[in-house]
Amino acid sequence: MAKNKLRQLFLSLIATDQTYERMMLRGEEVWVGRCIHCNKKLLFALDGEPLSEGSIEHIVPQNHGGGDEASNLAIACKRCNHQKGKRHDWKPLSDPGLQNVIEILRQRKAARSP
Ligand SMILES: [Zn+2]
Repeated sequence: MAKNKLRQLFLSLIATDQTYERMMLRGEEVWVGRCIHCNKKLLFALDGEPLSEGSIEHIVPQNHGGGDEASNLAIACKRCNHQKGKRHDWKPLSDPGLQNVIEILRQRKAARSP
């Protein structure tokens, strides 16, 4: 994904996640919020550029038809995103473990919505 498009995507997700707040950090205004999985703090510049380990998480995995629509996306740290991919995304969509992860992420996303 092009860098500018990715920044726009981060900004649209930040706008729909109540864990994100504008804060002053070392004299600069940034967005600070939480990984959808582990609640680790994630930082973004006001233009959407990730300043830490922020990445785009697909709630329904792309290999199971999960798309890039905002309702299927959340912000996760790279470590959690990678672990979900490794542990769950390859399973059949009917797998209870994968279904459980999808359900948890949907609930967390809903709970964070303004
Ligand atoms: Zn995380």
